[in-house]
Amino acid sequence: MTEHGPLAAIVNHAHHHSPYLRDKYRAAGIDPTSWSDSLFSRIPFTTKDDLRRAYPDGLLAVARSEVAVVHESSGTTGEPTPTYFTEGDIDEWLGRMLLNGVGLTERDVVLVKTPYSMLTTAHQMHGAARRAGATVIPAGSRTELMPFGRVLRLLRDYRATVIYAMPVMLILAARRALETGLDPAQDFPDLRAAVVNGELLSPAKKRFLEELWSIALFPDYGSTETTTLGGACAYGTLHLWSDHFLFEVLDTESGQCSPRGTGELVVTSYHRRAMPIVRYRMGDIVTVTDPTCPCDTGRPEMLVHGRASDAFMVGTRRLFPIDVEDVVYGSLRGCGPVFWSGEVDRDQLTLALESTDRGTAALRQRTDALSTEISARLGMRSRISVVPPGTTMTLDRQPEQEGLLKPVYLHTSAGRGSRV
Ligand SMILES: [Zn+2]
Repeated sequence: MTEHGPLAAIVNHAHHHSPYLRDKYRAAGIDPTSWSDSLFSRIPFTTKDDLRRAYPDGLLAVARSEVAVVHESSGTTGEPTPTYFTEGDIDEWLGRMLLNGVGLTERDVVLVKTPYSMLTTAHQMHGAARRAGATVIPAGSRTELMPFGRVLRLLRDYRATVIYAMPVMLILAARRALETGLDPAQDFPDLRAAVVNGELLSPAKKRFLEELWSIALFPDYGSTETTTLGGACAYGTLHLWSDHFLFEVLDTESGQCSPRGTGELVVTSYHRRAMPIVRYRMGDIVTVTDPTCPCDTGRPEMLVHGRASDAFMVGTRRLFPIDVEDVVYGSLRGCGPVFWSGEVDRDQLTLALESTDRGTAALRQRTDALSTEISARLGMRSRISVVPPGTTMTLDRQPEQEGLLKPVYLHTSAGRGSRV
């Protein structure tokens, strides 16, 4: 750390050791060797495009011999976005992962059901659980070796206490359980919690999944480039790990950043060595607020609304797919594992709902109430149909497959899919 504090040290490290960032800062007229407090706010943002342009090692800021692992994020364009970690970087990320309120101990058996291939997600939980002394079941995802029938067997026979998965995986697994005569809320008595990431999670969907499995849900938020940036406390509230990162909220219209408010999340790591994370734009629209949670950790709270490109306007209101999801799952509690997909055309929402055979009758009874809620909370007219099992989401088209990694729930009239 320099005499100017952690931010100066981070920016100097990036400037001295990452050829790509040195050029970028030079082009912007930034000279971090003459540090002033206002300099940081003038440092250009790093974007996902920078990661692509710097491929393969323009952002690398340590000697190759110091790199412990290389990861790449999933990306939808096919262009690789590499990210590097030293042993020290991994040590620090595992410490952050253990801040999650799920509170892993040596008594836990953790089934990891997120991808191990190139992403950091599974490795984060795998390493953190091992460090806590827990037993790990490395099930993984995006592999034909791990159909949901096998996941259910592993959960039961090894008496898993925690599952780490995308929320949609919990719905798919619940459906497979019901198909095989198992009740997810009754027949997995050792399972106490799920840590979920990789998909947004509205408050109503969180409750819905907690009731479906009779467990507590603990969200985790981050990316392969940054690893975990925030997670649930013991009360289930999503907090930012503000002792490890500087978080800024970017007003994309004015270009101004603030520590609180609604806008795009921008992150700077205080610790990262192998690939400095300096003013990295996450692409997610969030609301960051001062903490009011009884956990009293002092860490800010955050709501994640979704990608800016997924927003749609109803009148003068900007809505996100997660707003629709919250209304859907709030109205369909107790209907079993429900999938939904929809289409927005101005103020018209066309929804398809799908459950198991047994849940279909319950869904039909709820459509009027759901329609009323959509009108009251979203200001939209709706057309709702209940579709047979397997129409929108089939187990053999499970989102483990490439391209379906994140399910598309909502399409706008422009035909663009919204990945939630
Ligand atoms: Zn809290």
